[in-house]
Amino acid sequence: MKIVFATGNRNKLKEIQALIGPRFELSTPADHGITEDIPEDRPTLEGNALQKARYIYEKTGLDCFADDTGLEVEALGGEPGVFSARYAAVNGAGEGHSSEANMALLLERLAGVENRRARFRTVIALILGGKEYLFEGIVNGQISTERSGAEGFGYDPIFRPDGYDQTFAEMPLAFKNSISHRGRATVKLIDFLSSL
Ligand code: IMP
Repeated sequence: MKIVFATGNRNKLKEIQALIGPRFELSTPADHGITEDIPEDRPTLEGNALQKARYIYEKTGLDCFADDTGLEVEALGGEPGVFSARYAAVNGAGEGHSSEANMALLLERLAGVENRRARFRTVIALILGGKEYLFEGIVNGQISTERSGAEGFGYDPIFRPDGYDQTFAEMPLAFKNSISHRGRATVKLIDFLSSL
């Protein structure tokens, strides 16, 4: 069974293909001639994931899925949320997708704030036979007061998942993936596809 995964990231594709097994053959939008940026301008993770999946479905008519992730900080009312990738840029504190600028802004906004609770949330939207399904993965944790670790990407150096003394950036990638928001949402997607 063939499924399009709305990502430009070949590593993400390989990782999920390995987990999903040979019954499902994954491809990318580029494999179907879609090379433009896929729109994602909705106000929620669910909205963005669905928007991306619907775009692929409308263009190709093929079964497909898309994901969207955000870091939601309790004391900031769920910010940066859907703006996680460009948090600093949308606040006039840096350009483009700079993890350094994003972390600096987040630490600044949390300076002196005692409640450091946060969660990463991933939503995967699947369109299968024209029907839409959503899968969610959450990991709860705390925003640390300073950066630690060199692994991973994005906000990893300042996110410490509950139950661990290390930040995501201090964990080997395979271990992080086994407990992460994206890992959890992916397991739900794979369990669903495997049950078909
Ligand atoms: P995306 O939807 O997977 O592109 O994620 C949006 C943004 O959330 C990324 O650009 C990162 O800033 C942040 N993010 C997503 N997943 C992670 C993660 O596992 N660790 C740290 N930051 C992440």
